[in-house]
Amino acid sequence: MVYSWASDPVHNRLYDPMSQELYRQLPAIEKWLSSATGVALSAEFSPHEVATIMRGHLTALREMLRDGLAELPAFDSPAYAAVLRSELLQARLPSLRRVINATGIIIHTNLGRAPLAEEAIAAIDAVARGYSNLELDFVTGQRGHRNEHVESLLQRLTGAEAALVVNNCAAAVVLAIDTLARDRDVVISRGELVEIGGSFRIPDIIAKSGARMVEVGTTNKTRLSDYDDAISGDTRLLLAVHPSNYRVVGFSGKPSLAELAQLAHRKNLVAMQDLGSGACLSVDAIAAVAEQTVQEALAADIDLVTFSGDKLLGGPQAGIIVGKSELIAAMKKNPMLRMLRIDKLSLAALTATLRLYFPPYDPLERVPVLRMIAEPKDSIERRAQDLLAELKKIAGVDGTLVDDVGYAGGGSLPMAALPTTALHLTVAGLTAGELAQKLRAMDLAVIGRVVNDRFAVDPRTVSAADCEQLIVAFRKVAE
Ligand SMILES: *Cc1c(COP(=O)(O)O)cnc(C)c1O
Repeated sequence: MVYSWASDPVHNRLYDPMSQELYRQLPAIEKWLSSATGVALSAEFSPHEVATIMRGHLTALREMLRDGLAELPAFDSPAYAAVLRSELLQARLPSLRRVINATGIIIHTNLGRAPLAEEAIAAIDAVARGYSNLELDFVTGQRGHRNEHVESLLQRLTGAEAALVVNNCAAAVVLAIDTLARDRDVVISRGELVEIGGSFRIPDIIAKSGARMVEVGTTNKTRLSDYDDAISGDTRLLLAVHPSNYRVVGFSGKPSLAELAQLAHRKNLVAMQDLGSGACLSVDAIAAVAEQTVQEALAADIDLVTFSGDKLLGGPQAGIIVGKSELIAAMKKNPMLRMLRIDKLSLAALTATLRLYFPPYDPLERVPVLRMIAEPKDSIERRAQDLLAELKKIAGVDGTLVDDVGYAGGGSLPMAALPTTALHLTVAGLTAGELAQKLRAMDLAVIGRVVNDRFAVDPRTVSAADCEQLIVAFRKVAE
């Protein structure tokens, strides 16, 4: 078929006299800036900000005209000025900002994992405001090492001989494997070749660390003899990995950590566990599940344990390595440490969080992650009742209380369903999806779940102060 502009719909619209007329009515940006609306907005914002927003509008309108738009907005109307003003205010908000987490998922990766304790926030504030002794030894006046600020706290908390802190747990695993097993073999069970999410895949991490991975056993069963059979002159490390948010249940089994450590030591190898979630106190009683602690790994004679600072520990993003001193000493000498090091603000927050695990503090009261896991259902239910009563006072808002379960999240405590009382809410004239979208678009966004066309709020992750803000958000949405 021969191309003919006469039968091309886009061409026809472009040369349609009506749409040509609308194109001509689009104002030139300079001219519009000197209109009453342009001048008023440029007085409140900068002419540059106003021109940027308006240019975006004009480009979009040109495209819409090409797609058949038949009418232009009234550029000088107060309604149009209000739209521009709200977009200008939105553009001034920081991209990364606080949100209200109404999902009930405590360690929510998309929402920044662990909220910090007041003491950790104060420590960041103090160190950020001025200079610090980050790498200064007060006694000698010579250069110190940033790791010294946390090492003794981690030794006391976990009972490990030594400790080292880096940027995150993935970095901790890379540093350990690169130091101990570069160009050598790391033996790992097929049942633990997991992906943790956010592109952390154990096989890729081992490969990037320059080691060879030797897989043993099957997805559901790995025996000690499988590890034993795979050990050769090239083997350096037996690696156990906490499967995080993945569980093999039913016909399954693997050797205990103590058996793995014994085998490693009999063969002169290192036994390492990547624990990830990093519980440093038993949460079994509060979460009603058995979650292995860092201390248990060390008691089983595992040589090195790696875990995150911002999962069950409840601190800032960090990767923590605890274990035998000669192994940690080797890692401290690895030039890679310079690339993976923790920054001073995270270090300040981590130090302050670790202090909360010792008297006079009770970590279950002071560390927000642990406090939220430990909050009993009746306490959450009271907050849910109060919140619902306030929300129902807003015209158009309705809802009910529903027995539900929440989760620790972040690959931590996957089997622990924390009993809670959720609110299932509606706003007249909006679907639950539209309501969720409007709440996400607020300056202080509210992030919740949509369940059976209701907007679900789990007050476990919504503090009393957040409840006030949540009510403000619903008032605006229901207006
Ligand atoms: C979460 C997790 C990691 C990654 O930790 P980051 O601190 O996010 O780097 C590694 N290993 C395990 C087992 C984990 O659960």
